[in-house]
Amino acid sequence: YTQAKALVYSKYGEPDDVLSLHTHSISPSLPSNTLLLRTLATPINPADINQIQGLYPSKPPFTSLLGTQAPSAVGGNEGCFEVVSAGSSISSLQKGDWVIMASTGFGTWRTHTLAEEKNCLKVNKEGLSPTQVGTVSVNPCTAYRMLKDFETLNEGDWFVQNGANSGVGRAAIQLAKRWGVKSLNVIRDRPDAESTQNMKDELIALGATKVVTESELMERDFPDQVKGWTSGGREKIKIGLNCVGGKPTGAMVKCLSAGGHLVTYGGMSKQPVMLPTAALIFKDIKFSGFWVSRWSDANREEKKRTVDEVLEMTRLGMFKDIPVQELKWDWGTEESLLKEAVSGTLGGFRSGKGVFVY
Ligand code: NDP
Repeated sequence: YTQAKALVYSKYGEPDDVLSLHTHSISPSLPSNTLLLRTLATPINPADINQIQGLYPSKPPFTSLLGTQAPSAVGGNEGCFEVVSAGSSISSLQKGDWVIMASTGFGTWRTHTLAEEKNCLKVNKEGLSPTQVGTVSVNPCTAYRMLKDFETLNEGDWFVQNGANSGVGRAAIQLAKRWGVKSLNVIRDRPDAESTQNMKDELIALGATKVVTESELMERDFPDQVKGWTSGGREKIKIGLNCVGGKPTGAMVKCLSAGGHLVTYGGMSKQPVMLPTAALIFKDIKFSGFWVSRWSDANREEKKRTVDEVLEMTRLGMFKDIPVQELKWDWGTEESLLKEAVSGTLGGFRSGKGVFVY
């Protein structure tokens, strides 16, 4: 038997209140289409918290599969796993291969798991770290699809985004740079000028064209500055990526060129998206939303292709890792430490995304 641990919840609430570390064992006799996986790295994404709070549209079912006292779900939605053993009918995967999950919703914060072959996507692990593979399927895929699937960005075109230092934002900066697309990036003002400047420098080094703070974005003459940067508006700002909401999103929309497209994919400020009426009427701005879970369920092949492309860029040193705060999850790691890592996620101004490494 394999001894395993998982961070589970049996009701919705704040992670600190509802998560618990559950120990169980996994039988060595595998069904023929099933894999035994050992977990290597699983990130803690903002949506994982919303899911535990019960505020997220996709809710994994509470089941008795792990033998918890009350039916439970396992937290987490993405990660990198190593195949320990494969059921008799599986030929596409073997011991030692690395996989990610084909869809979100598969609880990933656990040391080991069983998974069906159809739920796993094999990745070429050569030259990659577990954290790189374990964080590829949500943030980089989101950035990639939002830049590709809503408007055609040609070399020299621009996009504008808020939350520019997030995992998605950093991926968007780097992909755009690679495609010859310029980026106008909005970050939140840091508590002091020096840390604001450091964050700007960091994003410029990643490939950002311009980085401004929310308060600079809100200044009256900001649109004039943008005109200066875009050759008087001849270079088009075709896409806006919004994961923040609130008033500053309206100011961001004003930067879009006529016919531009705002794609909303997150609501970190918990404020409604406030839009300038004139932009809708006179500039024919379009508004859409994007959800990577929906996209990957409908586009399995394309997801595999996107993941492979980003991992190849990573391997070649053309796609930099997001800053992370790794927490080693050993057999003896205390429940309280694991829960602390989860509950700190929505705090803001963090030095990196929490990632469990096993
Ligand atoms: P990260 O954990 O990497 O970064 C969090 C980001 O949110 C940082 O830029 C942080 O800025 C910002 N932030 C935190 N609190 C606030 C706040 N109160 N107001 C404004 N900004 C804040 O995030 P991810 O890249 O993983 O996710 C970013 C967003 O994208 C989330 O809303 C997430 O749910 C969403 N998302 C949506 C997907 C989809 O398919 N729709 C897929 C992936 C992510 P700061 O440094 O200033 O604190």
